[in-house]
Amino acid sequence: MTTSTQSPAAGMTRLPAAGIQTDHGHGSTALAVGARCPCEKCRPVHSAYRRRVYRLQGYGLWQPHIDATQTREHINYLHQAGISYLQIAEQSGLSGNQVRRIAHKVVKQVRTETAEVILALTLEGMRRKVLPATGSARRLQALVAVGWPFASVAPHIGMDPRGITRVIHQPYIFRTTADAIVVAFEQMKNLKPEDNGVSLIGAQKSRRLAERRGWPDPLWWEDMGHIDNPAFDPATAERPLNFHEQARLRAEEILHLASYGAGPDEIAERLGLGRDYVVARLRDLREVAA
Ligand SMILES: [Zn+2]
Repeated sequence: MTTSTQSPAAGMTRLPAAGIQTDHGHGSTALAVGARCPCEKCRPVHSAYRRRVYRLQGYGLWQPHIDATQTREHINYLHQAGISYLQIAEQSGLSGNQVRRIAHKVVKQVRTETAEVILALTLEGMRRKVLPATGSARRLQALVAVGWPFASVAPHIGMDPRGITRVIHQPYIFRTTADAIVVAFEQMKNLKPEDNGVSLIGAQKSRRLAERRGWPDPLWWEDMGHIDNPAFDPATAERPLNFHEQARLRAEEILHLASYGAGPDEIAERLGLGRDYVVARLRDLREVAA
């Protein structure tokens, strides 16, 4: 490729140094700069990237656009290895259409930032990007079991409400989506849907749907583990109690300890539960009692 003509921009895109992170986790160039992930690992990487651009601009070394050849070759390399344009798009913060336009030579130039983000994608990294959708589906179903309609979860994971039910049918899911579902799950599992924008009817419908389908709730999974294990079948899992009984028993234990004046910390400690969970259940139980 361009070995003799070393324009600063062309040279730059070939150097993975200067803050370009080719690993694909949070804090990588792809996620932080391309997809603009706002998490605490990605934000500093994005700032560092911006500072580098400003510095190069200051030296007059930054070209906003560069020849698309190298970027196109890299996209084609990934694509031929079985990575879809959509996966490349998802990882680089571009649209599927933009990736296709580069790949099919519709555009001859790309933004330098786009080139750097694309070149930071590695095949190994991309292959680590998908995983079985089992855990994601179970988390969504568990949220339904405590009263969150699928559509109400969608905004929390940046998904179209119409697309979210696909997750429970598709075999594989992007790791970024799976991660977002974990975050939403952890935040939402202890919240009361009715206090957070879900109608009473919507919440009841969801809980009934989950009951009919036999979808365990978050606490059941907390007790049983294996939520991400496709080989684990909740329907045939050996268990002394089903999840409704389990939840009732937990509530009784919590009330019992609370009646002796134990605070949330002590209850959480003694029952091996999360403090947030205990606080949420105490609040529920007091509401029922009131
Ligand atoms: Zn991030």
